[in-house]
Amino acid sequence: MSIQDSRLAGLLPDGTADYLATLLARQPVVIRLTPPRRTKLGDHRPPSLKQAAHRISVNDDLNPYALLTTLLHEIAHATAWEKYRQRVRRLKPHGSEWKEEFETILRPVVAGGTLPADIAFALAAFMQSPAATTCTDRGIMLALARYDTPRPGFLLVEELPIGAVFRIGSGKVFCKGQPLRSRHHCTEWSTGRIYRVHGLSRVERLEEPPEKPESPGLSFNAFASVQRFVRQLF
Ligand SMILES: [Zn+2]
Repeated sequence: MSIQDSRLAGLLPDGTADYLATLLARQPVVIRLTPPRRTKLGDHRPPSLKQAAHRISVNDDLNPYALLTTLLHEIAHATAWEKYRQRVRRLKPHGSEWKEEFETILRPVVAGGTLPADIAFALAAFMQSPAATTCTDRGIMLALARYDTPRPGFLLVEELPIGAVFRIGSGKVFCKGQPLRSRHHCTEWSTGRIYRVHGLSRVERLEEPPEKPESPGLSFNAFASVQRFVRQLF
């Protein structure tokens, strides 16, 4: 195992570092902690001609349980690649092979009693549901988010009432609209454009919305209807 950042062991939940080391010893893996990325918690890249080891990166601001779950998720990509790359022509990133590997390495952690009950329950429910194969399972993400360090004024989009105004990490301000499946239609405050924002995005609620800029020659509503195309934000 190679961990490029000595902080990693200290960031994991108590009693889980040894198990992680056992998993990583099965194939060459380089783990890197990176500054937080808004679009993902971690990623995995298989070995290449230039790099003989699997490379896994994880955001360095995750709470211990989110860090462990993300690492296990990415290690499952590495073990699925090792096991199936020659047997399965097109290995789907989160297909049945990945899920089987993820379940196998999760089971001892869920049964081991080191996780809080709500996280263990969400992970067990994920393992038991044949339909649950997505990378960001809602039940797991919600349970993990409960252990984030509270920041006053910061909430998940799905915790806000419709009509609430909020700011995302890039500084853009939105008004929350109607829910879709896992996302919500939200209107960008300054342009009137409609975006789809994920319900599990953590955002800053604004009690005082900023003033809307004047749209020269075009009313705000007309501008909004002209610009009514949906963009993927997260
Ligand atoms: Zn994945």
